[in-house]
Amino acid sequence: MGDLRGLPSVDRLLSQAGDLVDRHGRMQVTRAMRAELSRLRTDRPDPLPDADAIAATVAADLDRRAQSKLRPVLNLTGTILHTNLGRALLADAAIEAAVAAMRDAAALEFDLEGGGRGQRDDHLRELLCELTGAEDATIVNNNAAAVLIALNTLGLGREAVVSRGELIEIGGAFRMPDIMARAGVTLREVGTTNRTHRRDYIGAIGPDTGLILKIHTSNYRIEGFTAEVTAAELAVIARDAGIPLVNDLGSGTLVDLFAFGLRPEPTVAEAVAEGADLVTFSGDKLLGGPQAGFIVGRRDLIAAINRNPMKRALRLDKIRIAAIEATLRLYLDPDRLTERLPTLRLLSRPQAEIAAQAARLAPQVAARLPGWTVEVCDCASQVGSGAVPTDTLPSSGLRISGDTGNAPERLAATLRAADRPVIGRIHDGALILDLRCLADEKALLAAFR
Ligand SMILES: *Cc1c(COP(=O)(O)O)cnc(C)c1O
Repeated sequence: MGDLRGLPSVDRLLSQAGDLVDRHGRMQVTRAMRAELSRLRTDRPDPLPDADAIAATVAADLDRRAQSKLRPVLNLTGTILHTNLGRALLADAAIEAAVAAMRDAAALEFDLEGGGRGQRDDHLRELLCELTGAEDATIVNNNAAAVLIALNTLGLGREAVVSRGELIEIGGAFRMPDIMARAGVTLREVGTTNRTHRRDYIGAIGPDTGLILKIHTSNYRIEGFTAEVTAAELAVIARDAGIPLVNDLGSGTLVDLFAFGLRPEPTVAEAVAEGADLVTFSGDKLLGGPQAGFIVGRRDLIAAINRNPMKRALRLDKIRIAAIEATLRLYLDPDRLTERLPTLRLLSRPQAEIAAQAARLAPQVAARLPGWTVEVCDCASQVGSGAVPTDTLPSSGLRISGDTGNAPERLAATLRAADRPVIGRIHDGALILDLRCLADEKALLAAFR
C-alpha cells in the first residue's frame, strides 16, 4: 500500500502544468487532476506515482479527450461516396465560399439591388435552372427531405401511385413506404416486384390520386424477366390524368457518367426533359457538394412547396448555400470540372496511377510493420451512396496480412486510433487499403507507428 501522504496537492501539480493549462484551460486541468488524485487515493498503487507521472497521465487523458471524434480520416475503403464517412469531399471553391459565409454577415435573405428582403433560395435557383433545364428550383436539407416535402405538398390525404419494384430502402431509416406514411400520403402500390406495366398505373389512378412517384432504384438492380414503365411514358400517363409526376433520382448527376466508364445514370436534365413535373436529387452524392436536397421542376409546384410550412423546418443555412452555389458554378465549365470537383476527380483516377502509388508505398509501409506482409493488390472501387450500385472501378491498393498472432482486426484498430485515422476494410484474413482516395501519403505512413 502506498503512503497517501506522498501524493502531491492539486496546487502543486497545477504550478508545474503551465503547458497543459495553455492547451486545455485551468478548469479542465484542475478537474482532471482532482479526478486522478481521487483515483489514486482509492486504488492506492504501490509505489505511488510521483508528480511528473501524475501530470503525464492527466495530460494524456486530456489530450485524448480533446481529440474530435469527427476529425478527418483517410477513406481507404474503396467507396468514394461513403455515407458513414461523410460522402462527397468539397471542391476548394466550395470550401472557400463556406468559410467566407461563416466568417461574415451574408446577404442571405437580403436583396442587394433593391435593398429589401430577398429569398435564400434565389442564390441557387437560376444556376439550378440553367444546369437542369427546369423552370424553377428549391432546396432543402437533403434528398430524403426533398421527397418528404414533395409528397406532403402534392399528396397530403391522398394517394401516391408507386411501382412495387421501386419501394426502396436506402439504409438507415429511409424506407419509401415509411416516408410516405409520415408525409401523410397513402401508398398505392402497383405491379409486381419485377414487372410493372402502363395499365397497372392507369388502373390505379382515380379521384384520390395525388401524384405518381417514380423512384430511381439507385442501390440495387432488378434483372431478368422485368418490365418497367419509363419516366417518359409515366409523364404522358400523368399528364392525361391531370396529376403530377415526381421522379426521385436519388443521386442524380449533372454530367454524363459514361465518360467515366460507368453505366449511365439518368442526368437531372434528362429527367426534366422526359416530362417529370418535379425531380428530386441529392447534393452530396455524385453532384459532389455538401449535404442538400434539390427539387426542380414546374413553377407552380415549386411555389406550393415553398409555401408548405415544412419548408422552414427543412431549409438550409448560409454556409451550405454558399458551398452549393460555388459547387454548381464549377459545372458551368465542364472542361475543368474533373480537375476541380473531388468526386469526379477520384472517380476518374486511372488505375495505373493508383497502382504506381501502391507500388511506391508498399515497401515504406512494410518497413514500418515487422511481422506483417504488405503486397500491392488489385481493388474494385465503388461510387457508393447507392449510385451505380453494380459497377466498379478498377483500382489498386495494399493488402496487409499478419504472421501468426497478428490479426488484421488488430491492425485495423491501431490505424483507427491514429491522429488521422485510416479506414480500410478486412477481406479474406487481410486488411485491404484501396488507395483511390489517398492524397495525404505522409498521414498514411504516420498511422503505422
Ligand atoms: C440517397 C437517396 C435518397 C436519400 O437522399 P439523401 O440525400 O441521402 O437524403 C432518396 N432517394 C433515393 C432514390 C436515393 O438514392
